[in-house]
Amino acid sequence: DPKFKLRNVDVSYGADRAIKNISLDIGRNEVISFIGPSGCGKSTFLRCLNRMNDSIDICRIKGQLMLDDEDIYHSKRDVVELRARVGMVFQKPNPFPKSIYDNVAYGPRIHGLANRKSDLDDIVENSLRKAGLWNEAKDRLDSIATGMSGGQQQRLCIARAIAVSPEVILMDEPCSALDPIATARVEELIAEMSESYTIVIVTHSMQQAARVSHRTAYFHLGHLVEVNETNKVFTSP
Ligand code: ADP
Ligand code: ADP
Repeated sequence: DPKFKLRNVDVSYGADRAIKNISLDIGRNEVISFIGPSGCGKSTFLRCLNRMNDSIDICRIKGQLMLDDEDIYHSKRDVVELRARVGMVFQKPNPFPKSIYDNVAYGPRIHGLANRKSDLDDIVENSLRKAGLWNEAKDRLDSIATGMSGGQQQRLCIARAIAVSPEVILMDEPCSALDPIATARVEELIAEMSESYTIVIVTHSMQQAARVSHRTAYFHLGHLVEVNETNKVFTSP
């Protein structure tokens, strides 16, 4: 059973169609990359997967987007719950201007995932460990998150997403604002996380897609022109 099942998905902004008739399955524990030129619809597509486009009034979505066996846009569950299941990491690290601890604890507090302080502490520690940030952060949990380096801030944003036990993590150009060393760390993290989560990445870098993903999908002018195993895509003549 796929994690996402998309059928004939169309997305438009007013009269402009940004995504044209896309049908695709995304597997559990798959890392899939979406690449293509600027403006081809990658971000629009990604944002459909957790209804991040809802706030854009002129945005219209047609077709079927199933998460497990539930239609994302016709589900009775609310969007806050959907976004806990389908977390998001953005291009520019965007920690809240709060302590490192409070950034990671934010989601679990909203969703009531911890009854006691010690439970919350455990969630924060585990999430920071999974994001490869525990050793760097453990002695400064009360420090303001925005004081960290860019790469640390991005891994904190990953920890914040992980903290609510999502099934899927969406990443929109997660390394574009990072230096090569920070990029390599996030890419290592993606490889580790692929054992526990479905990961959907938008990237402009074919090299990154080749390094991190099982399958790569190409967008062109809103069309999905090719989806293939990454090793086939990059070794074919
Ligand atoms: P990419 O992520 O590949 O750069 P986008 O999904 O950002 O592509 O954009 C796809 C198309 O949708 C572009 O033509 C863009 O101008 C348009 N678009 C994106 N967001 C909006 C918006 N909020 N309002 C109107 N048009 C938008
Ligand atoms: P990126 O290509 O890195 O995703 P963009 O510059 O395309 O960044 O988009 C940045 C923001 O502007 C996004 O939130 C997108 O939805 C919005 N946007 C993009 N194109 C348009 C547009 N034609 N009209 C209104 N908003 C847009």
